[in-house]
Amino acid sequence: MESLKNYFLSNPSTSQVLLYAGIILSLWLIEAIVLGTSWKDKWKHTLTNTLFIGTALPVQLFMTIFVLIIASWGAAHSWGLLFVLPYAKSYFTKYFIGFILLDFCEYLYHVIMHKVKPFWNLHLVHHSDLQLDVSTTVREHPAETFLRMCFLMLWVFLLGASFGVLLLRQTLQTVANITSHTKFRLPAKANQIISLIFITPNLHHVHHHYQLPYTDRNYGDVLSIWDRLFNTFHQDLPVSEITYGIDTHMDPKANASFLSILKIPFLTRNK
Ligand SMILES: [Zn+2]
Ligand SMILES: [Zn+2]
Repeated sequence: MESLKNYFLSNPSTSQVLLYAGIILSLWLIEAIVLGTSWKDKWKHTLTNTLFIGTALPVQLFMTIFVLIIASWGAAHSWGLLFVLPYAKSYFTKYFIGFILLDFCEYLYHVIMHKVKPFWNLHLVHHSDLQLDVSTTVREHPAETFLRMCFLMLWVFLLGASFGVLLLRQTLQTVANITSHTKFRLPAKANQIISLIFITPNLHHVHHHYQLPYTDRNYGDVLSIWDRLFNTFHQDLPVSEITYGIDTHMDPKANASFLSILKIPFLTRNK
């Protein structure tokens, strides 16, 4: 047990990937069994999305090295916002405040991806999935993965986020991102309570509705407080009223082919 623990602590990237794969696979199976989806359709859909792991993973793992270099430079030089806050050395500031500020940065990143046209052309790949399920979590254009990691480097540099808070954040973010893409929805009352603080599947399903203004609602990553604060919050949409996808790219054939999806950002004109 101790050696397993040491392995995970000394190989954070590998442990993140294993955690990611384990949760996705379990939820994928539960979705198929409980919701009675056709295995053939689900597998076809999943295969397209799974191919994105092959393009995103090398970028993500390679750039994590630079994120960690920046984090250790920040720690060595006591550089960043977290170091000038009161009780900078306390666990409360390092971990709790660090986590909340990183979550705000992710909210900001998501808004930027929607509002800056060339960035949106990349991010719409994630939104182009016409059948949202747990595999949608990994549907991300590799150029967006690159951009996301560049932004993460910037946030870590500005905040002076430590290795510890990055690991904590990555773990909770992984769980939150995967669960928010499942087909399962919370009952209305539970959604009302949990969404006071956290992003729920119901909230993220609204974000994946094909038309505005819903696509521009619920940008939050782990916490929903930023959406509430900046007026981008939308509690829920009945499942019968949700159509997944994005109105400019609703062709089922193009959205099911990995190569066509990869080309989307370069074929989409900047309006
Ligand atoms: Zn989005
Ligand atoms: Zn999503």
